[in-house]
Amino acid sequence: MKIVIIGGGTAGWSAAAAIARLLPGIADVRVIESADIGIVGVGEATLPHVRQFVQQLGIDEAAFMRATHATFKLGIDFRDFGRIGDSYIHPFGTFGRELAQVPFHHFWLESRKTGSPPDIGRFSLAVQAARAGRFQIPRDDDLSLASSYGYAYQFDASLFGPFMRDFAQAHGAQRTEGRVVEVRQDPETGDIASVTLESGESFAADLFIDCSGFRSLLLGETLEEAWEDWSHWLPCDRAIAMPTASPPGEIEPFTRATALEAGWAWRIPLQHRVGNGYVYSSAFLDDETAAESLRRTVQGPALADPRLLRFRAGRRRQSWVRNVVAIGLASGFLEPLESTSIYLSHMAIMRLIELFPVGGINPADRAEFNRMVDKEYDRIRDFLILHYHATTRSDSPFWDHVRTMTVPDSLSGKMEMWKRTGRIEKYGEGLFFEPSWIAVYLGQNIVPEGWDTRAALPEPDGLVRALDGLQQEIGALVQAMPGHRAFLQAEAQRLADAA
Ligand code: FAD
Repeated sequence: MKIVIIGGGTAGWSAAAAIARLLPGIADVRVIESADIGIVGVGEATLPHVRQFVQQLGIDEAAFMRATHATFKLGIDFRDFGRIGDSYIHPFGTFGRELAQVPFHHFWLESRKTGSPPDIGRFSLAVQAARAGRFQIPRDDDLSLASSYGYAYQFDASLFGPFMRDFAQAHGAQRTEGRVVEVRQDPETGDIASVTLESGESFAADLFIDCSGFRSLLLGETLEEAWEDWSHWLPCDRAIAMPTASPPGEIEPFTRATALEAGWAWRIPLQHRVGNGYVYSSAFLDDETAAESLRRTVQGPALADPRLLRFRAGRRRQSWVRNVVAIGLASGFLEPLESTSIYLSHMAIMRLIELFPVGGINPADRAEFNRMVDKEYDRIRDFLILHYHATTRSDSPFWDHVRTMTVPDSLSGKMEMWKRTGRIEKYGEGLFFEPSWIAVYLGQNIVPEGWDTRAALPEPDGLVRALDGLQQEIGALVQAMPGHRAFLQAEAQRLADAA
C-alpha cells in the first residue's frame, strides 16, 4: 500500500518511523518535506507516553536521549496560577497509596478535619524527587512505592525530527525534498489522487498523511474540513520563544510554567541549553511587551533572538476524511501548557496503525479513528481550561476574562462533582487520570466539601501516624536517588562503555 506523508516535522517523521518499523512489507512510505518552508521547531516537553512510543519502535532510550540532548521530566511546576505566590507540581505519578480501594486523597481530605496536613505533594514521590532535583528510573514492581511514578523527556525539538528521519529511512522510508504546489483530487470520489512538487514531479498514493503543520495543506486547504475554534476558552494565540544558556548546578527534572500577565511562560531545561517561551493572548498583550516580559523573566544569557509563533486553539472537525489522515498541527492545536501536542501525534499514529486500511478504507474504521481523536482533544481541552479558570487572580484583564468565562458543560460537570464529592471522572485510556486532576484542583485551591465516607473509618491518630510514615518513606527514597545531572552523566557513560 502506497503512503505519502506531506511534512517532515516531528509529526511527519514520527509517522514514517512508526509505519515503516511496525508495518514492514505492508506499507511503502514516502515523506515529502520542504527545507524552504521548514518546521515549527518548538515542542520540547513531552508526556510519559512518548516513552512507550519510542519503546514500541525498539529505539534505545540512552541513544535517543544523547542524540536529542534530552533530560528527564517528572512533571510540571505551575507557579502563580491559582494565586500569585502559589506553586504546585503536576507529577507523573500518584499521591500516596489507596487503601481498601479508597483513593489516598480522600484520607488526606479527612485528615484536614483534625489538623492541617502537609501539602498533598508531600505524599508524591515524583513531586519530592522533582523538588530535590533528583532522578532515578522507577522500579518495575507495582507493590513498591518506588514504582509510583513515571517520567517523560525534555528534548531539542530541532533534533527529534532528524533522529526519527534517520530511523525511518533505516527501515525503508523514502524522502523527497520539495514544495507541494498542486493537489489533484479524483473527480469521481473526491479522494486525493496525487500531489505535484515545484519540480513538476508527481506522487500518487492510496493514503495521504497530512503532517504539513498549521497549513493543513490537504485536510484544511484542499478538503476544506471545518475548523472548530476553541479560542473563546483558550485565548492564548501567540508565543515568543527564546533559548538561554544552561545555568551551572543541578538540572531541574521538570518543566516550569509560570503564569504571567496575559498567559504563562515555559522553562524547559535540556542538557545543553534551556528552552523558554511566553505563551500569551494577543487580545490582551502586544508582541513587543511580551518579548520584553520574557527577557525579564529568563535566567542566563540568551542564545538567540526571540522568535514569534502564531496559532489558534481548536481542531479540524474530523482528522481522517476520505483518504487523508491529518496528524500533528495539521489536525489541530491545543497550547503547550500540559505538553500534549506530540502526545496527540503519537496517539493518532498508533491508532492509525491499529486501524490500518490494508484492504481499502472502511468508513467504520475511519469513524472509529475520528471518535478516538475527538475524545482525546475534548478531554485535554477541558483540563487546560481548568488551569485558567480555577484562579482567584484579578490582577489583569486576561485573568479577569478566564476567571469569569463560561466553561464547557463537560468541564463544569467535572468541577461540580469534585467540589461536592472529591471524585474524579474515571476512564480507561488516554490522558490525565485521577492524580492529574487532583494536582490541579488542590494546587489551585479548589478543595472539595465532601469526600468518601470510608475515609473516616481509621482512628484519627492512626491516620496521622500513617501519613507521617508515608512521608518518611518517600523522604528516604528521594535521599537514595542520585541528582538528575549525575544520573544523566552515568547514563551517558553507560552508553559510551557499551559502544
Ligand atoms: P511542523 O513542524 O510545522 O512541520 C510541517 C512540515 O510540513 C515541515 O516539514 C514543512 O516543510 C512541511 N510542509 C508544509 N507545507 C508543505 C508543502 N507545501 N510542501 C512540502 N512540505 C510542506 N508540543 C509538545 O508536545 N510539547 C511542547 O512543549 C510543545 N510546545 C510548543 C510550543 C509552541 C509555541 C507551539 C506553537 C507548539 C508546541 N508544541 C509542543 C507542538 C509541537 O511543536 C508540534 O506538535 C510538533 O512540532 C509537530 O509539528 P508538525 O510536525 O505537525 O508541524
